[in-house]
Amino acid sequence: MCKKNRRAMVRKDDCVACGTCADVCPRGAITIQWGSFAQVDRDLCVGCGRCVRECPAAVITLEVGA
Ligand code: SF4
Ligand code: SF4
Repeated sequence: MCKKNRRAMVRKDDCVACGTCADVCPRGAITIQWGSFAQVDRDLCVGCGRCVRECPAAVITLEVGA
């Protein structure tokens, strides 16, 4: 199910820092930086896509090989 070559990417300019992605990430790979945008730790992300589905602003995508 997990695609190891994929990683979540956040369009920071459009992130509203709601924290939903950080709450749902099973790997604890997302933190909210300075209360203003989400940042993905690419070493922890396993590309499950959960944050992509849950982000209310639809600003997360899965990128291959990035
Ligand atoms: S769920 Fe979306 S809008 Fe909310 S903090 Fe994460 S990336 Fe930003
Ligand atoms: S794709 Fe999965 S593991 Fe990666 S940041 Fe999103 S919820 Fe976490």
